[in-house]
Amino acid sequence: MSLLTVGSVAFDAIETPFGKTDKIIGGAATYITLTSTYFTDKSNIIAVVGGDFPMAKIEFLQQKGVNTAGLQIKENEKSFFWSGKYHNDMNSRDTLVTELNVLGDFDPIVPEEYQDCKYLMLGNLAPTVQSKLIQRLKKRPELIVMDTMNFWMDTMWDELLHTISLVDVLSINDEEARQLTGEYSLVRAARKIRTMGPKTVIIKKGEHGALLFGEHEMFYAPALPLEDVFDPTGAGDTFAGGFISYLAKTDDPTFENMKKAIIYGSAMASFCVEKFGTERLENLSPEEINLRVSMFLKLVSVGGNMEL
Ligand code: AMP
Repeated sequence: MSLLTVGSVAFDAIETPFGKTDKIIGGAATYITLTSTYFTDKSNIIAVVGGDFPMAKIEFLQQKGVNTAGLQIKENEKSFFWSGKYHNDMNSRDTLVTELNVLGDFDPIVPEEYQDCKYLMLGNLAPTVQSKLIQRLKKRPELIVMDTMNFWMDTMWDELLHTISLVDVLSINDEEARQLTGEYSLVRAARKIRTMGPKTVIIKKGEHGALLFGEHEMFYAPALPLEDVFDPTGAGDTFAGGFISYLAKTDDPTFENMKKAIIYGSAMASFCVEKFGTERLENLSPEEINLRVSMFLKLVSVGGNMEL
């Protein structure tokens, strides 16, 4: 089924204990759509970049099968720029710079050919743009998944709450869930978020995995313990990309299937962190992905009889 993603397409400058990059390609929608290409050939993107963005990178997405009809290029403006520095634990980071540039007044135009999309991924972006996009779709998609971050809680609180009220699934990290709800317990935080609109809540805990909350159910997927983690940037977006793409591929947005989708999201995120930026996500094989998923299943399955 067709998937539509809106989100940032950006330049990032990243510093981790293992190294530092100059401006490299990043952005939530970049990670999400790259991930989606391993699941569906009906992946569409709505985003905006400036004239400084390399055409080769857009062409690369096209070659991977992404429909970029909704990607606007503002020739005389600069692309969104974000810079972050990770702490030694690699699980937390400080944002050093956020330059909205073209994102500042982004008007998301929906090409006619995107109108029938059944799965909508609202990647990290101004909540005003995310809600405008929902409004502009003639038919509400069957499933709307939203990602956001603390930056929008600090700058657009009311608009953020409004957008959250419109979606089916909210995917945020633990720190953001606490900021959004004022609850330390993630179980309470998820319950509170469910009263704000989304019937399903995903709370990402970085290297400690992710929790999925439904009405009466809870599910946990660990993150794969990896020998080498070089750069966690984009892991949350890649996770969300794997999650929604699996649901779109199987066209089954039930809670039961979301458990599998979380495993796919975690598997894709485990690739993302192994290299800087999007590099590791650019050329994966189905065999590698299947092997990773089987490693996840092995990690959590006990087998045998567990009775005393
Ligand atoms: P993640 O590590 O999954 O939280 O995502 C990191 C990506 O989010 C980077 O590639 C950034 O370009 C992008 N990003 C950071 N801040 C923002 C923001 N305020 N709005 C949209 N995208 C952002």
